[in-house]
Amino acid sequence: MDQFENYAGQTGYLSQLQKTFLTGEQMVHAYLFVGPAGTGRKSVVRLCIMASLCRGNSKPCGECGPCRRVMADTHPDVHTLMPEKGKKEITVGQMREFLKQSAVRSFEGGNRFFLIPEAGRMNAAAQNCLLKTLEEPPEGTVFFLIADSITALLPTIISRCRIVSFHPLDDEECVRRLLAHGLSEEDAKIRARMASGCVGQALSIDAEYLKRMQTFTEAVFGLHSREGIPRLLNQYKDEKDDREATLDMLSVAVRDILAVQAGQLPAEALRNAPQRAAYAQRVPMEGSLHLMEVIREARVRLASHVTYQTLLESIFLVLPEEYEKWPW
Ligand SMILES: [Zn+2]
Repeated sequence: MDQFENYAGQTGYLSQLQKTFLTGEQMVHAYLFVGPAGTGRKSVVRLCIMASLCRGNSKPCGECGPCRRVMADTHPDVHTLMPEKGKKEITVGQMREFLKQSAVRSFEGGNRFFLIPEAGRMNAAAQNCLLKTLEEPPEGTVFFLIADSITALLPTIISRCRIVSFHPLDDEECVRRLLAHGLSEEDAKIRARMASGCVGQALSIDAEYLKRMQTFTEAVFGLHSREGIPRLLNQYKDEKDDREATLDMLSVAVRDILAVQAGQLPAEALRNAPQRAAYAQRVPMEGSLHLMEVIREARVRLASHVTYQTLLESIFLVLPEEYEKWPW
């Protein structure tokens, strides 16, 4: 069973939220949870609701009827508004329907909760419609808005909400949480880096994708001569994978190599990446820094008109160049 404590370090308001929803004291009508996906925003919303509706002894117990209904998304006093399938925006029509339910009495006698997990997708008309309700909220209603950032929301909406911000964890803490989810240490470390400390994102990375990325990274560091470049380019230039993530993955690899070269990570850390391990041994740190810089530049130019193939090639060319500079 999930607990508030699992999200310590992701938001400074955790104990305050826990206390508020357990006691009902100082509860406000609208909360805005802001932060990147995977930082526990939705999980904490769910815990708040369970804490408020739970009929067990140590709340939220996760076992009583209300707790179970909240976890199964079937509680009649918990309403969720999502964009319609295939639609980008939450429209004013949808919002009106959603808000009608706020005028209905509670089914189970407690507070009623209204969730908008993708609040950033409400269009302006929908936000204005919501605003009227937030200005005069019906007794016993609590709204939870979740957004990646506040930029898509009207200032008038923001000012009606208690803002609770969520942050990614540092690598070490993220790895610790992932280990608690039963991941192997190596898997946890790679995922933590790829997800930049967002536990939920780290857990959702597909194992196949991870394997493909590892194979790609090894192939890049295996480029000892220019002859290997065309084949590797052909293989990856049209990859449908997230290109930013692919370049980030390479940055992470170079970061690890630099850490090994600087003695901050044991060489053992690269034991399952023989090509990277060989590179770390043979090429000095200045070569790794050069590679890092080229990857960084490519990352910036992703948004420009330069083709992905050209960017990949600029990175690939660094490898044989560095290997040649530092022969055995
Ligand atoms: Zn319960």
